[in-house]
Amino acid sequence: MHESYAGWMGRRVGRAPLAVGRRHPARAAVVESGAVLTIASSPSARRRLAAVLLAVAAVCLGGSPAIAGQPPGRPGFGPAGEPAPKPIEPLSAAVVTHGSRAQKVVALTFDDGYAPAVCGALVDVLVQTETPATFFPNSVNVVRTPALWRRVADLGFPIGNHTVSHPYMPGLNYQQQWTEISSDRVALERVIGEPSLMVFRPPYGAFSPGTLLAARAAGYGVVLNWDASFADSSRRPDGQAWPVTSYARAASRGGNGSVILGHCGSSIDLAALPAVIASYRARGFTFVTIPELLGLPGAAPMQFVPPPPAWKLARWAPL
Ligand SMILES: [Zn+2]
Repeated sequence: MHESYAGWMGRRVGRAPLAVGRRHPARAAVVESGAVLTIASSPSARRRLAAVLLAVAAVCLGGSPAIAGQPPGRPGFGPAGEPAPKPIEPLSAAVVTHGSRAQKVVALTFDDGYAPAVCGALVDVLVQTETPATFFPNSVNVVRTPALWRRVADLGFPIGNHTVSHPYMPGLNYQQQWTEISSDRVALERVIGEPSLMVFRPPYGAFSPGTLLAARAAGYGVVLNWDASFADSSRRPDGQAWPVTSYARAASRGGNGSVILGHCGSSIDLAALPAVIASYRARGFTFVTIPELLGLPGAAPMQFVPPPPAWKLARWAPL
């Protein structure tokens, strides 16, 4: 599974998970950071670096629930006659920005859920056009409108993790990041009444090495960003929105395996969505969910079952 993720990693962050596999994880996590390399240039800075290294080692070796259950020792060094221990799992989640470039598929994703009426209308468009998509709401919004999110889940749209309150993750410490991710999953699953998608979408697409450690410790192997977007925060110099066709064109610039970012709540995205769907389909693309795009276990195409015609309902109604 991780071999296939490695091929899809974005350039910005593709090195971090590979480095973790090659070197000591705590050292790799710190040395990958340009900020730490900069402060190591003076004696006092070297002391600070040592303190940072110790702190990260403590987090990696003792503070992570995912690590705590692993047996001590290194793989392949078990006592004679015993099977070698399983390979150590990566400490960091893998960052993914798109799926395989070999298939003519794209995946729509909608974040946040801050405007329920617009979000509901967007879901209606997806259902009417039988377009699979994946949602990453903040649970602060999910708990305010539980009926909407139960409907989204009942329709079969996968729902992943986008934190409770949409913080800028690199500004939080490790424990705060872990809590934002873990609490979001608990609140989301309490509302939808079923397991959620174990994929994490960081707010603003922003993450630090600590975010990847915290996501992995919370059970998320994938941190998902995107390679195409509705660009719905873009405005003209006078502050007005561009014509809807501009946003539709931006969202239609994806190619094979693209992950397209939109927002469940943006009236711009709602207005542009029918044209975006039509554009991709006219070029021969098929829409898939994120579990399908990434080949996650149990992924299956969404089924859009139309309601039974009225005469069937009438025929089987009690007399
Ligand atoms: Zn967001």
